[in-house]
Amino acid sequence: MFGEGILKGLAETARNFFGSYVSKDRLTTVQFPEQRLPQIEAARNFPFLVYDGEDWQQGMRCVSCFICEKECPPKCIFIEKSTDKKPDAVGKPQFYPKVFNIDVSVCMSCQICVEVCPFDAIKMDVAFEHSTNNRFAGLLWDKKELAKPNEYYRQIHPIEAAAVDAALAEERAKVAAKAKAAADAKAAAIAAAAASTSVEVATEK
Ligand code: SF4
Ligand code: SF4
Repeated sequence: MFGEGILKGLAETARNFFGSYVSKDRLTTVQFPEQRLPQIEAARNFPFLVYDGEDWQQGMRCVSCFICEKECPPKCIFIEKSTDKKPDAVGKPQFYPKVFNIDVSVCMSCQICVEVCPFDAIKMDVAFEHSTNNRFAGLLWDKKELAKPNEYYRQIHPIEAAAVDAALAEERAKVAAKAKAAADAKAAAIAAAAASTSVEVATEK
């Protein structure tokens, strides 16, 4: 029928308009910024650096491997490696970033840095209110501005963060078991050496 599509469209509009007075699902707008739509797990904006524990510098997971810097398509990550080492997220001594900057005015939110990071150190944030009138320094975020705790990661991406937590816990347990085995072997070697010395002394007497 001629005009059937227009009538169907108008009926849908009317259904949404009147429905919005009685059903939350029909509300297409919220009173931002007082009201906000709930964030979905897959939402993403700019990257942030995850740290464990209370101290953001000690707990930063990044080991300054440069993989994300190399793979970032628009080259907006800048890293300088430390000269000393600190324990990483699983307890192994690793370098850390002395400098870690992201120029978010260039970042295109592609998430490649997240996908290539072997240490689960960089993740995508969902925060989006970053307007500034300082085009350069205001959008060049340093590691302090990029650092956010693992608890925050759990809040914004709960399913993904739980999988990362489980993998890190497994890795930590392996590293601890290896360290214990090495310590036990060392103690056994010292005990054996001490026993052999006392036998030699007894034989000489
Ligand atoms: S999200 Fe993409 S563009 Fe932005 S820092 Fe990561 S790799 Fe670079
Ligand atoms: S964020 Fe990940 S990939 Fe990038 S330097 Fe740090 S550890 Fe390497």
